[in-house]
Order: sequence, then structure tokens, then C-alpha cells
Amino acid sequence: TCGICVEKCPFDAIEIINLPSELDEDPTHRYGENAFSLYGLPVPESGAVTGILGPNGIGKTTAVRALAGEMVPNLGNYDDEPTWESVLDRYRGTELQNYIESVRDGDVSIARKPQYVDQIPKQFDGKAIDLLDATDERGALDSYIERLDIAPVVDNHIDTLSGGELQRVALAATLARDRDFYFLDEITPYLDIGQRVTAARLIRELAEEEDRAVLVVEHDLAILDLLADTLHVAYGEPGAYGVVTDPKSVRNGINEYLKGYLSNENMRIRPDAITFEEHAPRETSKAAPLIEYPEIRKSYGDGEFSLDVDAGTIYNGEVLGIVGPNGIGKSTLAKLFTGDLTPDVGELDFELDISYKPQYIEIDQHMRVDAFLSSITDQFGSSYWNTEVANPLQLNRIMERNLTDLSGGERQRVAIAACISQDADLYLLDEPSAHLDVEQRVQATSAIRRYAENHDATVMVIDHDIYMMDLLADRLMVFDGEPSVEGHASKPQEMRDGMNDFLSDLDITFRRDERTSRPRINKPDSQLDREQKRAGEYYYAE
Ligand code: ADP
Ligand code: ADP
Repeated sequence: TCGICVEKCPFDAIEIINLPSELDEDPTHRYGENAFSLYGLPVPESGAVTGILGPNGIGKTTAVRALAGEMVPNLGNYDDEPTWESVLDRYRGTELQNYIESVRDGDVSIARKPQYVDQIPKQFDGKAIDLLDATDERGALDSYIERLDIAPVVDNHIDTLSGGELQRVALAATLARDRDFYFLDEITPYLDIGQRVTAARLIRELAEEEDRAVLVVEHDLAILDLLADTLHVAYGEPGAYGVVTDPKSVRNGINEYLKGYLSNENMRIRPDAITFEEHAPRETSKAAPLIEYPEIRKSYGDGEFSLDVDAGTIYNGEVLGIVGPNGIGKSTLAKLFTGDLTPDVGELDFELDISYKPQYIEIDQHMRVDAFLSSITDQFGSSYWNTEVANPLQLNRIMERNLTDLSGGERQRVAIAACISQDADLYLLDEPSAHLDVEQRVQATSAIRRYAENHDATVMVIDHDIYMMDLLADRLMVFDGEPSVEGHASKPQEMRDGMNDFLSDLDITFRRDERTSRPRINKPDSQLDREQKRAGEYYYAE
């Protein structure tokens, strides 16, 4: 260990290049002796969206409680009663001075969207509209309901809503308030890309047109890039200490984060860079087919929704990405493959062992994580399993916890581990990125890929995070159609064709960052956007 971390270094960094200089100073807040310490604070700014990029457990909620005036930060003196005057002394002459003066004077009101929208039904009993009506402080609610497309569900009871519907209701309920400061803890889980882009647009409008300060934590980097004006990177040792950097430009902040090195801070936060390919991967030599399936068709009830699937082949050992809007039939296809549903037309006559991780994870048994996982695989605890599954999914810290006490992100990691630890021919994961931070997404991606490679196993992954898809998929299956009415699934395609189909449907193009080649969403109707659309290059360069 480097002497700071209470546990083994999460990045397996053998050499710590530099200790953060902030750690020589007193923290902004320390919960107690040997308890979590927060260094630095993000700077909310009226008229702007400020982003925070960093892992869970790094002190974001602590920082927001201070900025909301719910807690006076103690500047490390946890024995004394803290005062705003001493906080102001610390931040006098900095960009935070005015803001802290307002907090001290009780002039800052806050609206916040919680991270785990799945918990809302446990806290609120009633229809969606009852929850929403109480928040309509600016007369903007109707417009949010329309633009977030939640009108069809507002009269439904909150506990019947899907995760994506809850996310949009929660967004509307937060943005509709009339406050000075809005804190949004993750906006993308369970939303498809179209919905993510809409949410980003609404948040930008609130900041710009209503001159509000918005602070956003977001792990979908393509969306964060679109959404934020400035960015604080947060790093440290989750649970032990967290450092919030001074604001950076969004482009630089994301680039430095991906590179694993923060220039101004002279701080390495990860041994390796996360890299993207500008050009489509070459057509891989095909392994043996795992499944060849015919054209299939499935409708629900008397045809309220129907799905058409083109005939296709899935190869042994490949990772097949599945993309498309919500409500278009992706889970229906998964259930056809697992045999939970039978097609109306076409026959799926393969007998495969399929291990399935659903989108909404319910593992509410009263059981410890270690007991649960060892009931799934004999490999549990072997050094192979520890290296390939437990370490990349950061399970060691939560092994002794009860399944019912896990946060959304922790539950996700356990569910991914449970899925890939089973003996199966085909692993099917629905939205594994939900509630994972960037580091965890990258680790989970490589665990899934490596596991597939080592076991000759085939993987199908449904996800909306473009960066994750880019790192994960060999080929793509693209869904289009009209959500909730009819869906169509293409046969598995090469990445270039698949991305072009998918993004042309969405009318979104990506350019490549000059320095890191990471994909960045083009401004609609910008010169690049128009050129790329004309050339039919929505994602990869020719
Ligand atoms: P994040 O929002 O980034 O996930 P939090 O600010 O919620 O992080 O928490 C950061 C760390 O501080 C966590 O390890 C948490 O357990 C710890 N923590 C939060 N509140 C308290 C408290 N009242 N006393 C002691 N530790 C706390
Ligand atoms: P996706 O996974 O792409 O979000 P789904 O396959 O879950 O889409 O759903 C596609 C459509 O089928 C949705 O309109 C959904 O409401 C509808 N649907 C899903 N399951 C059923 C069912 N058991 N009975 C009737 N309609 C259903």
C-alpha cells in the first residue's frame, strides 16, 4: 500500500508517482479520527452546469451536503463545533467565496435528484402525477412531462413504473423546482441514448435560460461531455479519502481522466490509459457458429407490440453488442433466446445453457454476498476466480455484506459476477453499466471480455453507454422501429455498419478527440455533423 490507502490500492499501482499535495493540507471535512476525509469542493456557478467525474464513495454527497448548507464542513477539526466563518476564512479569495457567503446567509435553496431512482417507490406511495404536482414551482412541469415523454405513465402508480420511467419522473420532479442550486446524481441509468441526450438538453436549458447553478455527477462520458461546462475530477481511495480537483475544461478533464494522469495536479490516478480505436476493427476471422437462427416474430396480447428479428448467426467466442431505444423489444429477444418466451413465427431449436443478468436486479435474499456467490460457482475463492472476477468487480470489500444492504452499484457488480460465474454457453447481460462508475465499467468490461475469451464463451450485452459498447463489442445487433408498437432487430453486423445504422436512426454523429481518439457527440447541424452525415460516417473515420 502507498501508506494512505486503508486497503490494497484499487488500481494495483505498484509505484505511486506522487502523493496529492492537497493531502499535506487540512481536509475540507473529516468525519472523525481515521474516518473519511474530503479535500477540496466543487464550485457551483449560476448559469452553468458543473460536472463531477469520479468513483462512487469519493465524497460527492458529502460535498453537496456542505454546498447545500446542510452540514458545516469542519476543515478537519472534528472535535470542535465548525462555523461558516472559519470555512469562509479558508475559501476567501477563491471562486467559492461568494457561494459560501450565500450559504452562510441561508440564501441557497437546493433541489436534488437521488442516484438510485429504484428506491423512490419505497419512499413515495401514490401516482407519478401526485409526486410531480408537488414540485411544479416554476410552471414548467407540463413541458417537462411532454419533452421527457412521461405523459403515458403519469397516472400510473409509482411502483408500476420501469427504471427508465422512474428516472425521467425523478428528473422532471427535480428540474421543475424553483431553486438556486440543482444537484443531479447520475441522470443516465435505464435511459436510452435519445432520452439521455434529451435529459442533457433540458438540464443545459435550465442552467442557461433560467440562470441556475447545476452540479451533475455522471459516468456516461459521452453524455457528460455534452452536458457540462466545467468539470471537477474526483479521485482518492473510496471510503478513505477523496480529492476534488479545481475546475477543468470538460474536454481536458475527461481526456486526463481517461489517460489516468491529471496534469495540473501532477497526479497519476491509474497505471494505464483507457483508449479508443478511431477506425472500425477489421473483420475478424469467424469462429464456428454457436447459433444460426431463422427469421422470428413475436407479438404480445392481440398485437399491441410486435417484434421482427432478421435471421442471423452468432459465433462462438464473440461479444455481440445489442443497441436500440427502450421499448423496442431487446428484452423480449433475450427472453426468446432463454426460452422464457416462444416465437409466434420461426423456431429457436437450440439447446444452450444461457446465463442471464436482467436489467433490473432483484437479489433480495437475506444472504451474505460470499454465501450467495459460493452457491453459484465451485470456483468461488480460487485464485483464478479472484483474479478474473472478484478483483476486477471489486467484490472483496463487500463479501461480508448482506445482499439486501447493497447499493445499486454494488448489487450490479454482484449480479455481473453471478452471471459470468455460471457454467454456460451464452452469457446475456442487460445494461451492466447501470450505476457503475467509469472505473468499474472499464473493469467490468475487461472481466466480461477476458472471461469470454478464456472460456470460448459467447456474450451478448445490451447497453446504452457508447464508450462501454466501443470497448466491449466485436459486432452489433441494432434494433429500430417504433417503441412500444413495433420493433425490428437486424442480423449481427460488423461494428462500422452497426454503428452507422444505429446512429443514423438517432441522427447523431460522433467525431474523434484529436488527442485521445475518444468519441465525442457532434453538435447537431455543425459542419462536421453535416459532412459526416453526407459521407455516411456516423461513428468511425474512413
Ligand atoms: P459519494 O457520494 O461520492 O458516493 P459520500 O460523500 O456519500 O460519497 O461518502 C464518502 C465516504 O464518507 C463514504 O465512505 C461514507 O461511508 C463516508 N461517510 C458518509 N457520511 C458519513 C458520516 N456521517 N460519518 C462517517 N462517515 C461517513
Ligand atoms: P426493451 O428491452 O427494448 O426496452 P421490451 O422487450 O422490454 O423492450 O418491450 C418491448 C415492448 O413490449 C414494450 O412496449 C413493452 O411494454 C411490451 N411488453 C413487454 N413485455 C410484455 C408482456 N409480457 N406483455 C405485453 N407487452 C409487453
